[in-house]
Amino acid sequence: MNWEDNVRKVIPYTPGEQPVGDVIKLNTNENPYPPSPEVKKVLSEYDTSELRKYPDVYGGKLRDKLSEVYGVSRDNIFVGVGSDDVLAIAFLTFFNGREPVIFPDITYSFYDVWCDLYRIPYEMIPLNDEFRIIKEDYIRPNGGIVIPNPNAPTGVEKSVEDLEFIIKNNKGSIVIIDEAYVDFGGRSVLPLIEKYDNLLVVQTFSKSRSMAGVRIGMAFGSSKLIGYMNDVKFSINSYTMNRLTIEAGAAALEDNEYFVRTCEKVISTRERVKKQLKELGFDFPDSKANFIFATHKRVKAEDIFNAAKAKNIYVRWWNKPRIDDYLRISIGTDGEMDALVGFLREYLDGSI
Ligand SMILES: *Cc1c(COP(=O)(O)O)cnc(C)c1O
Repeated sequence: MNWEDNVRKVIPYTPGEQPVGDVIKLNTNENPYPPSPEVKKVLSEYDTSELRKYPDVYGGKLRDKLSEVYGVSRDNIFVGVGSDDVLAIAFLTFFNGREPVIFPDITYSFYDVWCDLYRIPYEMIPLNDEFRIIKEDYIRPNGGIVIPNPNAPTGVEKSVEDLEFIIKNNKGSIVIIDEAYVDFGGRSVLPLIEKYDNLLVVQTFSKSRSMAGVRIGMAFGSSKLIGYMNDVKFSINSYTMNRLTIEAGAAALEDNEYFVRTCEKVISTRERVKKQLKELGFDFPDSKANFIFATHKRVKAEDIFNAAKAKNIYVRWWNKPRIDDYLRISIGTDGEMDALVGFLREYLDGSI
């Protein structure tokens, strides 16, 4: 007997690179703009003597503010350390059956990692050739469903009506809609939580609220779902949301105008860059997220990825079937995108 035989071995999720130094970083879908000035204010004025006490187990002020801003009761809200934490708890809580959990074959690459970790059977449902989800494919026996909307890394949005079709026809299982990118012009299924007690909607502060470094994610669902998630969470670690995070998150929610304005900036840059990429010979599904998933008609994605990196421009590329000729390009500031487009123009011309 070797102790290593009893180790829970997993192949972990690979996050995008976090290079140090002066680079143009378009590889992890971070927001190029800082968080609201309200966040800076509340953190700089924080009374640190409060830190000796444990925080509120439900996220206190943060959950209250979410309830106000999103117009849902506190009992319908769960907060966690980024939506990765929220999703990990949701998988552990809800996916405990014999039938496979189903999700798209091209999607957020954490879903299969959690399934492997928790020994949840799963099946990936192929997107069609245009990277679209076919709603009828999700009408089959399953132990749960996860769909990001807009999908990652494609940026393709599914209509609320199609998602409702999937939720309505799967009342025997939990359907998780991961809305990490919904604030960049997509439509949320949030209002449907009143109609379907099997729907969990997951969102994050990491992208649209410029707070990836703070780690805040939330889930909205029926009080029954949220209750079950709390039971599991309190069986692992009750105090996941620290006092500073709670303050920072609540402050960000105070400043809705700033949030709307930065999202609009990202959207308008995205639409401009779409036109430029088209002119340079790129093809991509129409994106409703803060990134564009693009392939070039002539030049291999891997070559562009490496050449860009050599010029300190980081985008994301996966050596995976079906998507290995695509680059996922996060939307940065107008200046950063101009630098990228300038680089691409020269590179594709063969001048560098
Ligand atoms: C970024 C992302 C997440 C996780 O983000 P957090 O930083 O953990 O909130 C979850 N789902 C998708 C699809 C994402 O792209």
